[in-house]
Amino acid sequence: MTTKAYGAHAGDKPLEPIDIARRAPSANDVQIDIAFCGVCHSDLHTVRSEWAGTRYPCVPGHEIVGRVSAVGTGVSAFAVGDIVGVGCMVDSCQRCSACDEGLEQYCENGFVGTYNGRTKDAPGHTLGGYSQRIVVKDAFVLKIRHPVAQLAAVAPLLCAGITTYSPLRHWKVGPGKKVGIVGIGGLGHMGIKLAHAMGAHTVAFTTSESKREDARKLGADDVVISKNTAEMKAHAGSFDFILDTVAASHDLDAFTRLLKRDGALCLVGVPEHPHPAPNIAPLIFGRRAIAGSLIGGIAETQAMLDFCAEHGIVSDIELIAAREINDAYERMLRSDVKYRFVIDAATMGAE
Ligand code: NAP
Ligand code: ZN
Repeated sequence: MTTKAYGAHAGDKPLEPIDIARRAPSANDVQIDIAFCGVCHSDLHTVRSEWAGTRYPCVPGHEIVGRVSAVGTGVSAFAVGDIVGVGCMVDSCQRCSACDEGLEQYCENGFVGTYNGRTKDAPGHTLGGYSQRIVVKDAFVLKIRHPVAQLAAVAPLLCAGITTYSPLRHWKVGPGKKVGIVGIGGLGHMGIKLAHAMGAHTVAFTTSESKREDARKLGADDVVISKNTAEMKAHAGSFDFILDTVAASHDLDAFTRLLKRDGALCLVGVPEHPHPAPNIAPLIFGRRAIAGSLIGGIAETQAMLDFCAEHGIVSDIELIAAREINDAYERMLRSDVKYRFVIDAATMGAE
């Protein structure tokens, strides 16, 4: 079925309207009429070939919410009319030890990304949520329990939400813990809301003076301008856990120094260029760790969505028309978005 979408034909080309084909739903498929799709920095990295291996045409988007418009004969968990979400994955092998543990993002045979993943469907790679419709295997579809009026602001939970929720849970963030969130963009602002809701003492690290007051409104107990060495020094050796969401290469030592003994700095940002090699002395003298984390599994994504519905948590968004996407990318590069762009899929094809 022909579907309106936005995509790019090469890394140095802007996104533009394109028509794509979606498969007819087979037995275990859910067909979703997309209402909104969030704009993740990973979309920009991929579209512009900042990471190796982008396949074109590239239709990004992995923060998808919409309404079920058809289901295959074998689908029992979803029905036409249900409000659902799709995140960063649309398939995995479902038989390796990672998949068995609900950690499909670490599938030993490689998960299939919502865009730029290998598929039998034309054109041979998956095409994402900057489109009006998508067909996804039922095991990778999430239930949305927020009020429908919040749907646009729910979309970013499908990547920004789970990518911050999963490490916060893994490192057991909660009451009595001091937690830092570095980079107050799409991921970072969700990290603040979630760490705060989990009961941790939450400190925001930003390079943008203009976000100082906002970060408090998002739930930060304290805000540090990371370029200010005196402000940084005041927190030396005090953090249990720091989550670094920065999308550009930067000095990690400034943050490992802030950890307590046995503390961890977890990286989720995937910059185009590598970070400078970290100084290992603070790691050795203090048993501190630098770790990484990738999105979250399907069961955990559902748990995150339910946690957010229960706590009234959504993303702070700027709703845009599809034709504004190239400007939105430029603003995202300037850290000039509070805090996530979301595309209104109804504007696709309306030039
Ligand atoms: P974003 O909205 O652009 O936010 C990134 C933030 O990093 C900016 O708002 C800015 O915050 C800070 N920043 C930007 N440039 C900086 C610089 N040169 N030095 C210091 N800070 C800088 O991006 P996002 O969508 O949140 O994504 C963040 C990163 O996570 C991207 O690399 C993305 O690909 C990656 N990601 C990873 C996963 C995963 O599973 N691991 C999932 C999704 C996304 P301030 O203004 O507060 O300084
Ligand atoms: Zn993402």
